[in-house]
Amino acid sequence: MTTPNDHEPLAARMRASGLGRYESDVLATVGGHPVYILRSGPAQAGRPRLVLSAGTHGDEPAGVEAVLRLLEGEDPTLASFDWVALPCINPTGSAAGTRENGAGIDINRSFENDAADEARVVKRALGNDAFDLFIECHEDLEATAFYMFECGDGRSALGSRVMADVAQVCPVSHASEIDGMRALEGVIQVDEAFARHGHRSMALYMWRFRARRVLTCEAPGSLPFEQRVTAHMTAIRSALTWASR
Ligand SMILES: [Zn+2]
Repeated sequence: MTTPNDHEPLAARMRASGLGRYESDVLATVGGHPVYILRSGPAQAGRPRLVLSAGTHGDEPAGVEAVLRLLEGEDPTLASFDWVALPCINPTGSAAGTRENGAGIDINRSFENDAADEARVVKRALGNDAFDLFIECHEDLEATAFYMFECGDGRSALGSRVMADVAQVCPVSHASEIDGMRALEGVIQVDEAFARHGHRSMALYMWRFRARRVLTCEAPGSLPFEQRVTAHMTAIRSALTWASR
């Protein structure tokens, strides 16, 4: 079950005063729709650096909603990070309710090349900066339980800690294999071999070039919208809480 994604209310929220306390910018206007970036403000020494993204696939609205609610609510878990937020990377897909952007390109399968304008402007905005953590929100439209991909040093228990917290609000996967990859309590550990040969996703780009740890959250599309939003918000809060310890 998905919820139709009318992009204009989202764009209005992005412009609204509730988010005005943050630094914000329009990276590009694609098909008449702005791609927004928000930042916590000037970097503070010693604070870990975070990138938060959603809406790379336009038919996955729960992550967009989750990120906006956390920002609008000045969620306290964000306070200990220097963060960059990309609440809706694919506004044309979001407006049309399609996975691909308005040009028919899957941004998350071509992130490393410059086929999609959205990927190009996001990469330019992130520059050569290094981040401690990248969290992105996706939805698996066929799934009945939450799961995630984790890229890290293989020793971090971040993914399994986050899944334990998500399990309080949403069914989590117990499958031993997801998408042909080995999974443990809903966490698929992405190894370097896959990262070298796998598809050109934003997660793998970030892990290879920008971020030490990456969590790709996949909410189950079969659940009600509000539950998917809550699951994403819980996952992000949990990851930020554990990562800042
Ligand atoms: Zn997705």
